[in-house]
Amino acid sequence: MSNSKSKYSFFESVELYFDKAAGIMNYDPGLLQQIKSCNSVYQMRFPVRMRGGIQVIEAYRVQHSHHKTPCKGGIRFSSKVNQDEVMALAALMTYKCALVDVPFGGGKGGVKISPREYTEEELERITRRYTAELIRKRFIGPAVDVPAPDYGTGEREMAWILDTYVSYHPEDIDAAGCVTGKPVEQGGVRGRTEATGRGIFYGLREACNIAEDMKALKLSTGLDGKKVVVQGLGNVGYYAAKFLQEAGAIIVAVAEYDGAIYNEKGIDVEDLAKYRKENKGGIMNYPKAKNFEDRREALEMQCDILLPAALEQQIHGENAPNIKAKIIAEGANGPVTPEGEAILLQKGAIMIPDMYLNAGGVTVSYFEWLKNLSHVRFGRMDKRFQQTAFDKIISEVEKLTGRNIEKEQKMFLTKGADEIDLVNSGLEETMINAYHSIRDVWKNNPQAKDLRTAAFYVAIDKVAQSYMSLGVFP
Ligand code: NAD
Repeated sequence: MSNSKSKYSFFESVELYFDKAAGIMNYDPGLLQQIKSCNSVYQMRFPVRMRGGIQVIEAYRVQHSHHKTPCKGGIRFSSKVNQDEVMALAALMTYKCALVDVPFGGGKGGVKISPREYTEEELERITRRYTAELIRKRFIGPAVDVPAPDYGTGEREMAWILDTYVSYHPEDIDAAGCVTGKPVEQGGVRGRTEATGRGIFYGLREACNIAEDMKALKLSTGLDGKKVVVQGLGNVGYYAAKFLQEAGAIIVAVAEYDGAIYNEKGIDVEDLAKYRKENKGGIMNYPKAKNFEDRREALEMQCDILLPAALEQQIHGENAPNIKAKIIAEGANGPVTPEGEAILLQKGAIMIPDMYLNAGGVTVSYFEWLKNLSHVRFGRMDKRFQQTAFDKIISEVEKLTGRNIEKEQKMFLTKGADEIDLVNSGLEETMINAYHSIRDVWKNNPQAKDLRTAAFYVAIDKVAQSYMSLGVFP
């Protein structure tokens, strides 16, 4: 199923990348076929009463792999949702989870609606009815399949999903683990909202800190001063841009659904987000930047890092030749078509693949799920214990050296870890380790010629090992 931007559909492009990596591995073809296949696809239509009539809603939930359960993956609300897209996104979740050692199979959901066209009350009715459909077919549950936010959804929708699930399963003590990305008051974990963007920041910082790789791109080491273009200032794009900016990167252009703006000296992301809120969601005519005549020009602007964080197939055979960025950071899922990637790789760019770079969301979702199953906030048991132990060490150091440490410095050194500290530290560790696991393959296996192939290689290896240890293929 091709489209105007690629001869491959989104799912076909994921299969193509899979085959490229699988082709340099030595696994049984049947096992590889099982890993690649989508295990269960649930396509549904359900009626919702609104605006004096009945509207039939088209929706999906796909469980790509059951090599580990529950399945895990976000729910997308978009008028462009279709089965191929949900299958591709679910498959990417399988590989993403494997890559960052999150013990879930891949899943994804989609509801074919444009949220902008519905009131909050209508969205709630649609979300609750969708959840009821998932419950009926056992496509949701803390041990079965755990959705999360994605394009067009956020913690508000996750709270509706939880509430609906709990009303059907009041006896399930682990019910809060049926969905992640919830508000903290509903069992969410601190740091989940910004986790994908923060993970992108950690990943890019790691990539840019490797002097050898930056030298090959003729770029300086580190994030400081790097020029960044961001497409999509939603949950992923906004937080990624904010953390990159705080680390010294310069956001030179932002593209949104209504157009694109630029300022070579830098756009203050928080100030722009404030302007956007007051401007019905639009970014155009932002007084501290200029409008591009054509939104598409933004992706082709001179910059070091291009961060597509909106939707798939945004960089393709037609615009890739004009793209000047040397680092393509895939914040969105599938933002580059295979044709676009071939051109960019030929030009010598580094492509940091989606399945690695945006894995921060599912990593912190895993922490949230663990919190829900353990029924205790991270840090609750040990924060005070750590603080007391650090206090004793500092007192001993003061005694031995005969010097007193300043009060503020002492407070900083003896602080026990809160939930947010533990979440961010777990995320940072995960993103750093995973980057090196794929870079090692990229640098040491001459057949893995790019980071995406290396990422698939690592992920396939982990899923294959898991299947084999299950004894599914005697
Ligand atoms: P979101 O709905 O919060 O934000 C998307 C933004 O993109 C919106 O501001 C929208 O107006 C903008 N947009 C839409 N079409 C555009 C266009 N043609 N040009 C420029 N901007 C456009 O969605 P999100 O959660 O940030 O997800 C974005 C991407 O990241 C998706 O591909 C999603 O699958 C992926 N992702 C999200 C998460 C997560 O935790 N939310 C995790 C991993 C991957």
